[in-house]
Amino acid sequence: MRNILHIIVSVVLTGVLGCSQKPEQVIMTVNGPIPALEMGITLTHEHVLVDFIGADSTGYHRWDKQEVVKKVLPYLAEIQEHQVSTLVECTPAYLGRDPWILKALSRETGMHLVTNTGYYGAHNNRFIPATLFELTAAELSDIWVDEFENGIEGSGVKPGFIKIAVDGDDTLSKEHLKIITAAALTHQQTGLVIASHTGPDAPAFEQISVLQSHGIDPSCFIWVHAQQGTLEGNIKAAEMGTWISLDNVSLDREAGSVYDVAWYAERIHQMKEAGLLNRILLSHDAGWYKPEEENGGTFRGFSGIFTALIPALTNQGFSREDINQLLEVNPHNAFILRNQN
Ligand SMILES: [Zn+2]
Repeated sequence: MRNILHIIVSVVLTGVLGCSQKPEQVIMTVNGPIPALEMGITLTHEHVLVDFIGADSTGYHRWDKQEVVKKVLPYLAEIQEHQVSTLVECTPAYLGRDPWILKALSRETGMHLVTNTGYYGAHNNRFIPATLFELTAAELSDIWVDEFENGIEGSGVKPGFIKIAVDGDDTLSKEHLKIITAAALTHQQTGLVIASHTGPDAPAFEQISVLQSHGIDPSCFIWVHAQQGTLEGNIKAAEMGTWISLDNVSLDREAGSVYDVAWYAERIHQMKEAGLLNRILLSHDAGWYKPEEENGGTFRGFSGIFTALIPALTNQGFSREDINQLLEVNPHNAFILRNQN
């Protein structure tokens, strides 16, 4: 009964507040809650470590925590020079999420790091253990809510958002419908924003409908890899309140190729023309330490937004206020905990 009341209250509040920011609102970092305004400049989708070996073989035995910390520290130092104070780490459980590493990196740098709960269904569910795969949406949600209430695996670290992933097909599979449903149930109990690895338009809108069928406002949903969607799709979803995550800015692509820096500048410019700059999140989807490679292999840094994209936007007439909207205001509004009193 208490749960039902709680759900009713959060649905009503979501409707009334539309997930807008209140001054006292907080985000959950690996060191506990902080006022959203303290997030500062934030990268909303990056990775410290990713282990693609598959759910059945991954585990903490696959990497040396100190070696990973040592490898990643210089890349965090680099973005601290660009005044970045918060990094949202998007690696889910069974793909290399390691809350102890994130805590160590936060302690060494003084940066805020944010981690997640949820499972990654994309790539045909190979990153979800077979035993968990049989669970219902409500049972999956119970696990994720427990991580929010009691911390992740005894680390004391609580997730700051729900991270899920679905395949980019035109229709969501039965399993991926279950995962977005579990995310909806978890959101209702925790107030955590839902970030879903999605890509194209069709699965984005299908997930938004599932959330709406649970009374959840689209402003509680981050369309991850929205650059793979159409401009029309991005605009339509943003008009509904969805967060549009343009998150694979990279200096590695040749100028003139799709998704080069100029492509991102143009997409952001088009969103601004549509009056939707306040729905955009920017990041590199970069990193990361690879356990299967010697000393973690090649690491892609997190600074292209500052060295190339922001200068390109400034050249197109973006003001300081516009840049602040993209790098500070939007991340704060996206990652606030929705149902704190
Ligand atoms: Zn990613």
